[in-house]
Parts: sequence; C-alpha cells; structure tokens
Amino acid sequence: MKMYDVSAEIYEGMPVYKNKEEKQPKISTVTNGHVTESRIDLDLHTGTHVDSPLHMINEGETMETINIEDLVGKVKLFDVTHVEDRITKEDIEGFPIDRGDFILFKTKNSQEDAFNFEFIFVAADAAEYLAEIGIKGVGIDGLGIERSQPEHPTHRTLFENRVIIAEGLRLLDVPEGEYFMVAAPLRIKGTDASPARVLLFEGVSIT
Ligand SMILES: [Zn+2]
Repeated sequence: MKMYDVSAEIYEGMPVYKNKEEKQPKISTVTNGHVTESRIDLDLHTGTHVDSPLHMINEGETMETINIEDLVGKVKLFDVTHVEDRITKEDIEGFPIDRGDFILFKTKNSQEDAFNFEFIFVAADAAEYLAEIGIKGVGIDGLGIERSQPEHPTHRTLFENRVIIAEGLRLLDVPEGEYFMVAAPLRIKGTDASPARVLLFEGVSIT
C-alpha cells in the first residue's frame, strides 16, 4: 500500500494567500526548565484546509456541520496540469464524474512552491456543472478554489449545493487515478475553515 501525504508544511515564511504578511503563521515557543511549549497564531485558511459555508455566506454553516465521514473514502484525482488560467466546464465535461463523487484537481499549482497570483482555479461554470452532477466534494492544489471573481460565484455555488471544498493540497507526486482519502480537519467549533492533514492511499480496497 502506498500513501501520499498531500498536506502543506506549516511554518513561518510559508506560502500564504497573496503573500499577505498578516496571513503568516506565528509560532512562539517558551522553554521553562525542561518543559517546552509552543503556541501558534494561525489563519484557518493556511496551507491545506477545508472550508465551511460560513467562509462566503453570512450565517452559513460552520465546520462541525461537515460530516467527517464525507472526508474519508474514495476520491477521483484528475490531472489538469495542461489547463491555463482556470478550469472551465469545457475542460472537465468529458471526465467520469458521478453523483456523490469526491474529486480532486491536480493543476500547475502543484508544480510551484511560491504563491502565484495567477494560480489556477475552478471557474464559475465548472462549479455549476459539478453542483448539477451533485458531487460530494472538490479539492484543489491552489490556496483558493477561485480568484478575482466578483461575488465569489465558485465558492457560493458549491456551498449552496453542499459541496465540500478542500484547498491547498500538494499533489505534485500523485498520478491521476482513484485513491482512498483521509482528510482530517482539526475539530475547531464554529469556524469558517480548519487546517487538515490529508492523506491519499493507493490500492486500498474501497467499501
Ligand atoms: Zn479557504
């Protein structure tokens, strides 16, 4: 059995959305005798994480409304590293995507370590298409599932159709195919996102 850890490392100076200084994690460590303890000040959208509807919808649902069972199970990973700028409906129409699927997009984003202001994202028409199919979730290797779209139609369409969004995956080494995913966001109550450790297992039989 092969396992891929597709989670970003968290450290001060890591790539963060739009390179904003205020989005950098701050880790402070105190040593008292032989006891060392650290604190972290972390934007919940740092690195690999799962969003909840509250992120884009006022009064939207928070992290604990996302069923952990929906984050554990079969996923279909599609290689769209040829796509420029944004993933459109046309790019994915031919893909074998079915109702209830959790899908992941591997894009050019996984080839870059630094934050790219022109990162590849899911266009509004692709989000509508995926919502119509009725997928369970979608993950991408950018720090956002959209950028520069006024009113955030991609996020909103997905949230309004109860599609889970995972962002900041690191998929460079993972070939296209089916995997068993364990995505485990920290169990923080009442929030719009939570950082997650995401693991993909190859060759695990799926029930
Ligand atoms: Zn987010």
